[in-house]
Amino acid sequence: GVPPSEGEDPPKIRVVVRKRPISKKERERGDDDVVDVLAKNNTVVVNEEKVKVDLTKYLEKHAFKFDESLDENVSNEAVYQLTVGPLVRTLFRNGRASCFAYGQTGSGKTYTMSPLPIRASADIFTFMAQQQYRDISLCVSCFEIYGNKVFDLLNARKKLNILEDGKKKVVVVGLKEFGVDDVDGVKALIEESAKNRSTGSTAANADSSRSHSIMQFALKRAAPAPAGGFRRGEDAPEPRVVGKISFIDLAGSERGADTFDNNRQTRLEGAEINKSLLALKECIRALDSDARHVPFRGSKLTAVLRDSFVGDQARTVMIANISPCSSSVEHTLNTLRYADRVK
Ligand code: ADP
Ligand code: MG
Repeated sequence: GVPPSEGEDPPKIRVVVRKRPISKKERERGDDDVVDVLAKNNTVVVNEEKVKVDLTKYLEKHAFKFDESLDENVSNEAVYQLTVGPLVRTLFRNGRASCFAYGQTGSGKTYTMSPLPIRASADIFTFMAQQQYRDISLCVSCFEIYGNKVFDLLNARKKLNILEDGKKKVVVVGLKEFGVDDVDGVKALIEESAKNRSTGSTAANADSSRSHSIMQFALKRAAPAPAGGFRRGEDAPEPRVVGKISFIDLAGSERGADTFDNNRQTRLEGAEINKSLLALKECIRALDSDARHVPFRGSKLTAVLRDSFVGDQARTVMIANISPCSSSVEHTLNTLRYADRVK
């Protein structure tokens, strides 16, 4: 195939909406599929007649056009080809990429996001087998932002601090990183992180719908040995990061509205989620404008993803997941509106 050094640059921002199928259980409890995807012109329409409520009380607009609007029959492989697939080759030429799954709890974020790193790694290993990429290796890390705290999902949910260094580089201090040689290695790390995400003994009431989970791939190239070889006692230079991609399974978007909850902790978490989702939208928007200022300090989430949002090499794909159900129509409209405003 075409080597990664060639091939055109994907757009800076891509917004894709994916509708999930209605389940048997939802049908049985009287829910109806009220979302129409008009694949031909990439439009999503909430069907007013089927909803049987006056939608104008939520929004004037019920039809939204996106870069891709995917119906419930679109496979995970097709989603990959339309989202992360084109970003993979940029990782071999200093690319910085991120892929977000946004949507209410139960809309299909994890179903959509969890196969993407595995599928991407298959393409990455194929490229790495080419002679000119022999000295590149793949390193994987995974962490969670819960409330205002960061936890290492590949190190027993250890709590970590983030720091900004003198060069405005934001680092998650002590985050474990694992070199991986094959797709099975990536799968094993994803399984471990999934286990750590929902059940950590340190967070008895941790609820994955209230956390952002982030998996990162760094492609690294071993630094060349100094001319004349190493001197005695000299450390080998640090490998250089060639490309980086982050896969982000966001907190349930409805949690951002928990700011009126009676429970103080829930309210604080809701406020943090709301803040991070708003900051995320602004950071993505800044990618496409000439704005010199990227408001990444607006939240922990955007701060740790700073290097994905700055520079000519930054690319973002937002996948907005929606439920087809009449009972979810309010959240669906909120998600469509958010996705609409990202671009
Ligand atoms: P979220 O992570 O947004 O809370 P999930 O990914 O857990 O949602 O999805 C909720 C349920 O819907 C799961 O049972 C999942 O398997 C199912 N589901 C989601 N998207 C699809 C899809 N495109 N096709 C089939 N089932 C899906
Ligand atoms: Mg989930």
